[in-house]
Amino acid sequence: MAHQDNLNPFLNAQKQVKEACDRLGLEADVYEILKQPLKVLEVAIPVKMDDGSVKVFTGYRAQHNDAVGPTKGGIRFHPNVSRDEVMALSIWMTFKCCVTGIPYGGGKGGIIVDPKTLSQGELERLSRGYIDATYKLLGEQVDVPAPDVNTNGQIMAWMVDQYNKLVGRSALGVITGKPVEFGGSKGRTAATGFGVAVTAREAAKRLGINFNGATIALQGIGNVGSHTGYNMEKLGGKVVAVCEWNGTVYKEDGFDMHALVDYMRKNKTIVGFPGSKEITKSEFFALPVDILVPAALENEITADVAETIQAKFVCEAANGPTTPDGDEVLNRRGILLTPDILTNAGGVTVSYFEWVQNLYGYYWTEEEVEEKEERAMVDAFNAIYKIKEEYNVPMRTAAYMHSVKKVAAAMKVRGWY
Ligand code: NAD
Repeated sequence: MAHQDNLNPFLNAQKQVKEACDRLGLEADVYEILKQPLKVLEVAIPVKMDDGSVKVFTGYRAQHNDAVGPTKGGIRFHPNVSRDEVMALSIWMTFKCCVTGIPYGGGKGGIIVDPKTLSQGELERLSRGYIDATYKLLGEQVDVPAPDVNTNGQIMAWMVDQYNKLVGRSALGVITGKPVEFGGSKGRTAATGFGVAVTAREAAKRLGINFNGATIALQGIGNVGSHTGYNMEKLGGKVVAVCEWNGTVYKEDGFDMHALVDYMRKNKTIVGFPGSKEITKSEFFALPVDILVPAALENEITADVAETIQAKFVCEAANGPTTPDGDEVLNRRGILLTPDILTNAGGVTVSYFEWVQNLYGYYWTEEEVEEKEERAMVDAFNAIYKIKEEYNVPMRTAAYMHSVKKVAAAMKVRGWY
């Protein structure tokens, strides 16, 4: 595989699905259907800027497969958003939903934009503009977006408000990840990170690592990374290194994660956090920690990086942080990796809980949400670990096998092949 291809998340996602189809011995038709989204929409979104000019942004929505149920997946605002990235993320969503057995297919959306360059008003107009451009393809029983990189509850609230205005009724369940005061579920903001910590706890158990005192290197302390850190701390873990886009810091006795996140909010960097020392990104990946958690973006663990990793296991909180050749190196070196579609499935699982609560108009306590999420994550971990052992395959392949089987079965009874 050429180097550039290796960094194309769409080709990587296809490779992962193909491997699972082959291992399961499925008919070629299954991969033919699953290798691309069923629908991809590209839109131009004109936005009135504060200076009176109009800027046109490009947005996407991909719906990979709806054999199991409505499509579901976040909306990302980032300068590197591309059609291929959105398609890849939609493929991963189909199989992630099946990991914990929630009745959705995969979808994903995005806008090519650096939201840091927008005012609040411009951000709101862009968010509403995305819905104006895509709403005919969305719906509580059709396609249900959620937050992703650089989008949050406030943005989801603007989007739901816009959708409701366009369709002329209250349809709270059309988007999840909303603020609690507007149909959001308790526990949703923390859900992905909570699930990452549960996955890491289960993996540590299998490897005989005591979580109490376990050392952690964490890349990215946005929504997922920060809540992963808080929850790992609660389990007795010690985050000793944190890597952000503009600097990496190390603290042997462990960071107080809340203090570090507050520091970053105030200073826009983690560098200079009291008691820490700055290290390089290469040093970060090579630290002899128990757990390495990439919680930022794709393609961080390449083959070269994987060669240097000394962690006992890698817990993929981000989507697609390991390239296929990075994967091969980790497999060869016998380093366990809990794959993204399992590790961060807690987010979409609680999104599903939010949708159920919206449809019923009946809301659960935070304890109920966490308890149901924890059970779903532990069951998924055990089922996938069992496949890994039975077939002697890496956990990623096992996770895809677990999910591809379910989607293939739904497509079969529907008569798609
Ligand atoms: P976020 O925007 O809240 O946080 C991302 C963090 O990563 C930010 O702090 C950012 O500064 C940092 N970052 C960006 N580039 C970096 C780099 N090159 N090196 C180090 N740090 C960098 O986004 P998020 O919602 O936390 O999402 C993170 C990852 O988790 C993404 O891959 C996303 O698709 C995935 N994910 C998110 C959810 C969710 O519920 N938010 C659910 C499942 C998966």
